[in-house]
Amino acid sequence: MNIFPLKFRAVDDGILFADDAGGFFKSDSSFLHRYVSSQLDVSDTQFLVRNGHAFETADDLAYTAFSYRWAHRLYQPGTLDYVILVPTLRCNLACGYCQVSRVNEDTPGFDWTPEVLQSVLEFLGSLSTRTLKVEFQGGEPLLALDALIRVRDFCRDHFDKVEFVVCTNLQTVSDEAWAFLADDDTFISTSLDANKATHQHQRTVSELKNEEFFGNLQRAIKEFGIQKVSALPTIDVRALSEPVSIIDTFTGYGLNSIYLRPVNYQGFARKRFNAKSASGEWNAYHSAFIDALIAYNWKADTPVEEYYFVHCLRRVLRSDHHGHADLRNPNILGKSYIVIDHDGTLYPTDEARMLTRVGQLDLSIGDVRSRLELAKIEDLNAEALNTFHPDCVHCPYQAYCGVDLVDDLSRYGRIDIPKHLTDFCQRHTYIFDKIFKLVFSEDPKVRKSLAIWSGAPEFDPGIAKVHL
Ligand code: SF4
Repeated sequence: MNIFPLKFRAVDDGILFADDAGGFFKSDSSFLHRYVSSQLDVSDTQFLVRNGHAFETADDLAYTAFSYRWAHRLYQPGTLDYVILVPTLRCNLACGYCQVSRVNEDTPGFDWTPEVLQSVLEFLGSLSTRTLKVEFQGGEPLLALDALIRVRDFCRDHFDKVEFVVCTNLQTVSDEAWAFLADDDTFISTSLDANKATHQHQRTVSELKNEEFFGNLQRAIKEFGIQKVSALPTIDVRALSEPVSIIDTFTGYGLNSIYLRPVNYQGFARKRFNAKSASGEWNAYHSAFIDALIAYNWKADTPVEEYYFVHCLRRVLRSDHHGHADLRNPNILGKSYIVIDHDGTLYPTDEARMLTRVGQLDLSIGDVRSRLELAKIEDLNAEALNTFHPDCVHCPYQAYCGVDLVDDLSRYGRIDIPKHLTDFCQRHTYIFDKIFKLVFSEDPKVRKSLAIWSGAPEFDPGIAKVHL
């Protein structure tokens, strides 16, 4: 009998074990001792065989099944079918945490020129995909409505299926912009920073502008339906809002998916706010938020989720869950999606664009008027997986986790510091610790939320295997 390698981690009341394909169970230190000293007894091997952690020969069904599960934990980048377009850097707000990615509304020289727009259309026309997702970012993209219309018209003619997301602050929306947003293939992604008071403090500043935003949000939801509108809170760890006030604000507008994001300070702001590693405070807050959601969902008719936590939960419970660009393994840059900036420069990610803009490191990969230069990031891409990372290979969360080299470069200027010292690792270690704590909980409130979040009619306790 051969055992697939097990990684392990001490948890509250035992030891969590996981294999390379994401199979997991909980046991204790005496099993660990028997495992590491090759003294497994009959009941140990029976348990491991029964749960897919062992095989007889490399051509038996257990081995094939394990290989299949392992392979489906890996992300294989497909064709380029997702573009983030930045037609303008101009914005009609001046949020404190966004200084490096915007200029004032009337500043000339920060929009696509006609030449760049034409090149963007030619670039899109050269893609081999038949389905495309286009995300318009800024600045405030609705200030460049003509460019959005040109791109949308072109894409509708050119692709079999295309979807547009406008990342707008919904601050000042013209009649033409409302008409643009009304179409079925066009979605709104906006920011709602926690609650009315925080939104005013962090974004709109004046009460009048704040009311304007909340009025526009209300109108968008009423006219287009909740399925067309998403709102994301950006949370400042130095001024945290009570979780319940965020839940109340979002559910008050019928928004049931909340994607909590910490302020992503860049460049000088990162140093000024010592935001290089605020993961401890953030993790504690996020954990309290998840607990508040569980309490809310116990009684609520319509449940609420934290988007990224649910994404990570689903990555634990199933293979092939690769829908979030921030958490994939491998996470090859510049392949399945790309960013085109206001001046036509190409970037592998939006954070790479910021990093370049603050002068920290040039991570541009060409110009839309000439060509894509993926060779520039070849060396980086050679490291864009956790599979052979000397720290991650010992981590029970490796199969569910990913890698974010641009975040490491942005925070530390290098990608080779020990994983456990990185913000990425600290945040994900916390998230997976929290997930497993909940998975092994017998609290009916926890089980209700877990079932909802994982998309199951009810929680199956058989998922939480224990071997003692
Ligand atoms: S980054 Fe951290 S949490 Fe993720 S697999 Fe590596 S060691 Fe584990």
